Formats: sequence, C-alpha cells, structure tokens
Amino acid sequence: MTPEEFRQAGHQLIDWIADYRLSMEDKPVLAQVEPGDVRASLPASAPESAESFADVMADLDRVVVPGVTMVQHPMHFGWFPSNASLSSVLGDLASSGIGGLGISWESCPALTEVEEVVCDWMRQLVGLSDHWSGTIQDTASSACVVALLAARERTSNFSEASGGLQAQANPLVVYTTGQAHSSVVKAASIAGIGQDNVRMVDVDPWTRAMLPDCLAEAIADDLAAGRTPCAVVASVGTTGTTAVDPLPAINEVLARVETEHPMWLHVDAAMAGSAMLLKDYRWMWEGVEAADSLSFNPHKWLGTILDTSLFYVRDPQHLVRVLSTNPSYLQSSADGEVVQYRDWGIPLGRRFRALKLWFHLRLDGPDAIRARLRRDIDNAAWLAQQVERSEDWSVVAPVSLQTVCVRHQPPDLDGTGLEQHTQRWSAALNSSGRAFVTPSKLDDSWMVRVSVGVEATEQHHVAELWRLMQEAAAA
Ligand SMILES: *Cc1c(COP(=O)(O)O)cnc(C)c1O
Repeated sequence: MTPEEFRQAGHQLIDWIADYRLSMEDKPVLAQVEPGDVRASLPASAPESAESFADVMADLDRVVVPGVTMVQHPMHFGWFPSNASLSSVLGDLASSGIGGLGISWESCPALTEVEEVVCDWMRQLVGLSDHWSGTIQDTASSACVVALLAARERTSNFSEASGGLQAQANPLVVYTTGQAHSSVVKAASIAGIGQDNVRMVDVDPWTRAMLPDCLAEAIADDLAAGRTPCAVVASVGTTGTTAVDPLPAINEVLARVETEHPMWLHVDAAMAGSAMLLKDYRWMWEGVEAADSLSFNPHKWLGTILDTSLFYVRDPQHLVRVLSTNPSYLQSSADGEVVQYRDWGIPLGRRFRALKLWFHLRLDGPDAIRARLRRDIDNAAWLAQQVERSEDWSVVAPVSLQTVCVRHQPPDLDGTGLEQHTQRWSAALNSSGRAFVTPSKLDDSWMVRVSVGVEATEQHHVAELWRLMQEAAAA
C-alpha cells in the first residue's frame, strides 16, 4: 500500500469508525454469536493476492462487528470500564503510523522522552510525590510480575545472578488477600514464588479490606517456620467490589519487621487509580508514598485505549539492575544519560504507547475527565440508592466508587434456589443484548456486579438498566 492509497483508505476508515461509534447504541451489547461462528465465516487460508479495500471493509461489517461485545456501548456495565476515548484512538493511530521502534533511547528518542513526560504528568494529576518514576506497561498483570521480580531480587540479594530461587535455603512468601485480582497469584507463579507461598490474608467481612493484624500474624508464622517474607500486594480498589486495603496500617506492620526483614509493597490500583484524579478520593491510597511500586490502568475508567498501564517505582535503579540487558548491538554513546525503558519491564521492543495518553490528556483535558468520573460515581450512588429502597433487593458490598454489587432475593428463595435465580436473571439480561452486567461470586454466593463508567453512559442509561434488572428478576 502506498502512502497515497493509504490516504484514501484511511479517510474511509476514520468515517467508518465514527459511524460505528454513532450507531453503537442500536446494537446488542453482548456479541450474538456462537463459538466458531466468526471462524466459520472466514476462508481457511490467506488470499494469494491482494483484495480490494472495499472487500475488507465489507467483511469488517459482515464478520467482525457481529462478533464484538461492545464494551464502548452505553449499556455495558460488565467487568470494568474499558474506555477507548476517540482522542486516544487518534494517538494510537499516530503511533502506528509513525511505526517507531522502542528498543533503546537511540532507536526512538521521542518514544522514550514523551513517555517520561506523560508518566510525570500523570504522577502529578494523581497527587504522587516526585519520588516516583514511571513507565507504561501493557497491563497491570505484567506490572505485577515486574514488581514481584524486583521484590524477589531484593529479598534474595540478587539470586538471579547465581543459582536463582533454586539455590535459596528458605522459600520466599508473598502476602495478599483472596479479593486481590487473579493476576497477583499468576505473577507469584511466574516469579517462581509458588502458589504454596502466597498467603491469602483474611479480610473484613463487610469492607473486604485486608486485616492488618492478620497480616502481622501471617508474617510472624512464616518467620517462625523459617520462611522469608518477601512482598505484600495491596489492592486499592479490588476487582470484585472495589475494596480498599488500608495502606497506613499495612505500612505499620511492615515497619515493625523492616530492619531484619524489609519487604516490598506493591499497590495494585488498576481500577481505582483513575479516581485519584479527584482530590477527595485520595484517602483511598493514603500511605502509598511508603510503597515500593504501584500500578494503575488508564485503559480502564480513565479512557486511554488499551494497552496503557502505568507502573511507578521508588527506586528505578533497583529495577534496572534486576531487568537490564546490554548487548553490544544496543550500546550507544548516549548510554548513562538516558532512560532505557527496556530495562523497566520484560519486552525488548516497545510500541510508542505514550502517544495515546498524550493525545487523550491534551485533546480531552483532565477537567473533562474529572467531570466524567464524578458523573459515574453519582450514577452508581443513584443506582445503589434505588436498589436499597426496593423490596427484596440489596447492595451486598460498600460502594466506594462506581461498582455496585447487588442481589435480588425473593422471600421464598434461599440456598441453591437463590443461586440459580441470580444466575438465571443475569444471564437472561445479558443474552437479551439490551444491557450487560457481570454475575460474580462473593463469599461463595452469586451476586451481580454493575460497573458504571463507560464514557457514553449517562444517567438515563443507568435508569434504563435498573428497569431491565427488575424486569429480568421478576420474569
Ligand atoms: C483489571 C485489574 C487488573 C488486571 O488488569 P490488566 O491490565 O488487564 O492486566 C489487576 N488488578 C485489578 C485490581 C484490576 O481491577
């Protein structure tokens, strides 16, 4: 494709994207396809020679769009918001168009330095001190792996440079809660810690926040058994209920063992990080300045299209020592003066991700983003109030942000009957295509998570959802 052909096709594609967003509300939220449908409508082998742009676009409408669950749809209340603001889509397009390669500072100085700048802009916007240095990872899952690798190497005094964990006399232990995201256990597995060495510290039965006394006990038990405490992964906004682990109390527990057993504190604020743009929500991560690393996903509620996960550390030199590689073909005269982001994460080749955030912040502006976050918090509070006021309905976890966890319990139902009822009405609502929510287990019992926060969702959409929920539960 020549640049002139690209110009022509590109204009059409932009029009197509704008129309797609404009007409989304008329389409079902949940993809109405069966497993294998999409695959079956595509040829088994690649075409031998070029096809026309018109044919490809026709298949985008015919094959792809029906197979998309529309998470940008105003009636999408599932999982967490995965907003793809159009301003960030433009940044993504610019990044692809430039086709830059981030393997060293020299391979694309702008890629590195725009990333340094936008990470610092975001640091200021969420009220973190200038002791933090940031980078953009693909996801919070990867950020957690990197955090635990850094923790492991600090605790094991750089075991990676010799026999690795296999040469350690005592197992390293990571502490989190059963409410933490599944990526925490996965990261501990990948880091070689082993799932037997991940402690699920007890949580408060209502707030689902980590109980610091239980953390202290678990650490003491492990020390008594000859194991080595390595890291705590605290959640500021869990995935299930947006529960907030108490960082000040966790810091106190860690300070008590600090001299003999310094532990790494990683704060997972993947979802709630966006709310830190609002000063009155910063209580949620009070104490974060004592942590060693933290992650926050602008690709969720904030609205910078995937993959944009911010990862901040207090001591970038430690991170670089753990992850650096310096083969001869990547050495240059600028080394020592510049940041080499390949040493801040796992991949060598990196995309120009910073442009998405740069476009998003500049074209939408933090003031408009803050107003949208407040709108969503208000809409969630409104929904929680309706639920609380209605007979047979209850809110089953504190509403700290924009996620409302509910259950409908008719008087004649409990036990298995209630479990089936919850699964049935939520499945009926979702398969109707008119709205989408997430049935999920809390304390081993089914409930429904309503996650407000899609960019296009206004108050009347939340009101319509509440009507549909009541209809589905009454059927
Ligand atoms: C969504 C989420 C994650 C995982 O985010 P990815 O970027 O998809 O890996 C981790 N932790 C929490 C609390 C989350 O809500």
